[in-house]
Amino acid sequence: MKTVIIGGSATGMGVAAKLKRLDEKNEIIVIQDKEYVSLGACGIPYFVGNNFVDAEILIARQVEKFEKSGISIINNTKATKIDFENKCVDFEDEKIFYDNLVIAVGAKPIIPDIKNIEANNIFTVNSKEDGIAIKNIISDMSKVLVIGSGLIGLEMVENIKHNTKAEISIIEKADRVLKNLFDEEFSELVEQEIKSQNINLYKENEIMEFIKGSDNKVCGAKTIKGEIIPCDVVILSIGVSPNTDFLKNTKLELENNGAIKINEYCETNIPNVFAGGDCCSSLSYLYKNSKTFYLATVANKQAKIIASNINQIKSSKFVGALGTTIIRFFDLELARSGENKMFIQMNNIETKEILIKDKDHTNYVAGQQELWLRIIIDCKTKEIINAQMIGKNKSVLRIYGLVGLIWSRTKVNEALEQIDLPYSPSFSRTTDIIHIALSKLI
Ligand SMILES: Cc1cc2nc3c(=O)[nH]c(=O)nc-3n(C[C@H](O)[C@H](O)[C@H](O)COP(=O)(O)OP(=O)(O)OC[C@H]3O[C@@H](n4cnc5c(N)ncnc54)[C@H](O)[C@@H]3O)c2cc1C
Repeated sequence: MKTVIIGGSATGMGVAAKLKRLDEKNEIIVIQDKEYVSLGACGIPYFVGNNFVDAEILIARQVEKFEKSGISIINNTKATKIDFENKCVDFEDEKIFYDNLVIAVGAKPIIPDIKNIEANNIFTVNSKEDGIAIKNIISDMSKVLVIGSGLIGLEMVENIKHNTKAEISIIEKADRVLKNLFDEEFSELVEQEIKSQNINLYKENEIMEFIKGSDNKVCGAKTIKGEIIPCDVVILSIGVSPNTDFLKNTKLELENNGAIKINEYCETNIPNVFAGGDCCSSLSYLYKNSKTFYLATVANKQAKIIASNINQIKSSKFVGALGTTIIRFFDLELARSGENKMFIQMNNIETKEILIKDKDHTNYVAGQQELWLRIIIDCKTKEIINAQMIGKNKSVLRIYGLVGLIWSRTKVNEALEQIDLPYSPSFSRTTDIIHIALSKLI
């Protein structure tokens, strides 16, 4: 059985490795547009921040290692067309036939159509090359402009701050940072941290055009409010979209945002064609709606499901994701899981919520810090549908417990109020923030 995989990163190489483990006789060919496979993109900001020096550490497993295990990789090659009728993939005047096809092409950074966007000191944060290019110049820069204050934008801000003395500015279209993931109170605390780090934040603002200096480089950005933000490097992190342009106008069903529609078996609408990861819309766990997650955690799980289903070992299902996310921003740590307010409002879900501000551990152990927790429950089901935390000292790792409650659809009732959480002075208080939130909700 011959499986062709387009895209050689988290999803694609995950499928390849598992298929080989399941049956050594599986013939596997990966078509990958980069020289390398298995990029750990999540490490790029930390590479820029000098947490490690060798960019190869971003590569989880080298091409040669995969090839040694019998997986063929056609690298530096972009798949441009799929002939679903004849079961073949086209690239560079060649055709390659398949029994099963896996589309794992990920997502691409959104590049706005702004004057001078093509300048060579404007970078996205998506590939190993992006990371190397940014790191090569960043320590000599004096004015860095980061566009977008989502997870990647903020991770880049922190890491750039560690690696340069440059003045950093963030411009954000929304009225607050991290708007898609966290509620106002959480954004506010992050914005206070931005301020205390002497980073400029322009909110409810957008770049209208970049101003060109010499050598095809921009030296400033003009906002829609008329300000000019001087910059000698721009980091563009305004989001991503599925990398599926070459699949438009084919028989493959796509969502409006270009994501490939898949069912719980990661099958597309075309027989023997599977897809997973950032290029797909996936099942959201709680309300069974579909959503594009752009998370490595989802890609990894779907890779295993695809491999099992191709191998017909057993029918393996993706049960959904909660969009659980965790991020550090300087000393602050944030974690969240479940549906966000936008979804709740759009679907008229009647909810009850609580916001608790407490401390992470006892006052007599050094380093006590503030800890915030919001829990939202669905009034109809009494289940937790969203949890958000912000704190320090790794106290937000409590999210693991909360995810367990969300995942198991535990009802918030008197029995849950007595949930047996641990206590020791360095870790918590006798009544933990989770207990407080649950009893107030009850
Ligand atoms: C900076 C950064 C930080 C992140 N941090 C986190 C994090 O902390 N936690 C988390 O869960 N997730 C994080 N993510 C997201 C995570 O990296 C992705 O969800 C994950 O990589 C998705 O895997 P994928 O295989 O679907 O897509 P990708 O990893 O994007 O892989 C797709 C591959 O396909 C190749 N390709 C595309 N088109 C073609 C074509 N036509 N022909 C051949 N090859 C093609 C691409 O070059 C790429 O190598 C981060 C992402 C970035 C960029």
